[in-house]
Amino acid sequence: MPVAVVFRCEVCGCRPDLETQLALEHQLLDLRHGEYVDAEPGRWLTWHGRGLYGPHRYACGEHRGELKALLREHYGTLGWHPWAVGPHPWAGRRGTDRARRLARSLRSTFGPSGS
Ligand SMILES: [Zn+2]
Repeated sequence: MPVAVVFRCEVCGCRPDLETQLALEHQLLDLRHGEYVDAEPGRWLTWHGRGLYGPHRYACGEHRGELKALLREHYGTLGWHPWAVGPHPWAGRRGTDRARRLARSLRSTFGPSGS
């Protein structure tokens, strides 16, 4: 049975329309850290947190500004990420490429593992 992921605006608690819901679901598998990503057509904004930057947060088109203000207040001193200025188009899944790059750089740093 498919699992329905419930997205809610951090500010008003509303739910995205169906198309935006699908866009948000596509982003779920993306391994980003400290990045904003837009979800169309509803102009939703996702904050991909992780680690220092806390959990993922979502805002509807009406409240994306409020979400940024909140994040900048909470995490603004940790780095530049919360200060990024839009638009933040979703560029497709980057997680796999990043993971590959990371694995490559680890290998070149520590040498072949021998396994
Ligand atoms: Zn809202």
